[in-house]
Amino acid sequence: MAIVSRDVFEGTGVIAELGTRLEMDRYTSTSKHLQPLAGGGRMFVVTVRPHEQLWLVAVLDNPQFDGIEWVAHAKSALPITDITRLRAKLVFKSGKGIAPGASLGQSLQTPRVLAAADVALLEAAITGAASPEPPELPDWEPRQAQGHRIELAKSTRSKCATCDGPIMKGQARVAELYKHGDIASPIYRYHHIECAIDACPLVVRTALATVIVADRIVDHDAIAARITARLERERAERRERYEATAAAARAAVAPPDERPDDVLASLFDQLAAAPDDAAVLGVLADELQARGDARGELIATQLALATAKSDALIRRRDELMTELAPKLEHGDRCLWTTGFVRRLELAGKTANKLDEMIGLWRHPSLRFLRELRITFFMPGDAATALPGLCGVLPQTLRRLELTSASDEMLAQLARALPAVEIVLPAAASAAPPTVHKDFARHTGKPEWGRGKIVRRFDGKLEIKFPKIGTKVFRADAPFLELCD
Ligand SMILES: [Zn+2]
Repeated sequence: MAIVSRDVFEGTGVIAELGTRLEMDRYTSTSKHLQPLAGGGRMFVVTVRPHEQLWLVAVLDNPQFDGIEWVAHAKSALPITDITRLRAKLVFKSGKGIAPGASLGQSLQTPRVLAAADVALLEAAITGAASPEPPELPDWEPRQAQGHRIELAKSTRSKCATCDGPIMKGQARVAELYKHGDIASPIYRYHHIECAIDACPLVVRTALATVIVADRIVDHDAIAARITARLERERAERRERYEATAAAARAAVAPPDERPDDVLASLFDQLAAAPDDAAVLGVLADELQARGDARGELIATQLALATAKSDALIRRRDELMTELAPKLEHGDRCLWTTGFVRRLELAGKTANKLDEMIGLWRHPSLRFLRELRITFFMPGDAATALPGLCGVLPQTLRRLELTSASDEMLAQLARALPAVEIVLPAAASAAPPTVHKDFARHTGKPEWGRGKIVRRFDGKLEIKFPKIGTKVFRADAPFLELCD
């Protein structure tokens, strides 16, 4: 690499510009450092322009030394190319690149032998390939070209990546270096400064810090202050969102009416002992209504209904019950006493389902639950679910009706729930099982199919079979199998 001095470069009187073809075919120098070219090679001719720009002005192919000049057979066809950004990348054969603080003119005063990597860089710069940089940099461009920066738009062709609006020529813009899809090397996209401060304040901050001449085109301090404010706002919003989430999480763990103050706690204690005490309920209704709790109105409505029926009150009571009832599945049901659920019936539950419903037992409407009936999907579900349930059922529970439980399970339940009467199917359903079935089969006559029970009388069933018509049997006949 050989340098052309400013005097020589400007010697013609007409200062060449980037892109001009100088059509040089010779380089005048007797420097012994050019001797390696005697065996053939290429000479890259550069010059240094104001603001430490480095321009490549010509490439001489196989120049021959005639005692004064190195002369190539062909004129260089290279347009003048800005290679300032290669400054830090050139290493030279010596391995000693251009020192960061040094002046280019002095560093390159002596011709330097290029390393293969240097040649590749220069060739890439010549073809414009593999370079994310715009080929032309105005003279205020930062020297460390890589990275986010603030610059003046060189044309009206760029669009703002934030608002999609055009960026006018000469307008200050933020050039953001970013990774686009599958393209290996990062490329630039541009933003209006206003847009970028809001959309990507950290990019603007980096750009402000890296651009040497930013002060010339933008008010550095004003933008920095606005970025700080923007980031502060973001932090505050993040904090707010976090607080809201945390508060919601706390509320989910312990809903407000699960943490009664002293007055409510005392009223709840009294009701746990006597759930139907109208005097206590009346005071509780007032306290809850004063707190905006709909349960207060429900209690008041139910107390009023106890002395005077009215359609309007009944309608309001039903609305409030619907509002305050726990979420249940189809087939489940709640039976209410004043203000609270007295009895809960859960139908066809698997152990997994009961596990999912674990939050149910903390529902405020079940605070004074006294009776619970659970039918399990399979007998095995009872064995799986019951031990866990014992720990979460309301303390007020006095009766637990189950469809099935082994003796071992009953003993375990009796120990875990000493205050609760455990009731099994036979006792749980006072009426005979036939009441619950609408159909029956004759186990000795499967070909009859399923018959509909059309009448029950005197301990007998009248059954209508689709194929053979109506028959009457004793309800406890051993060959009758009741079915749905
Ligand atoms: Zn914009």
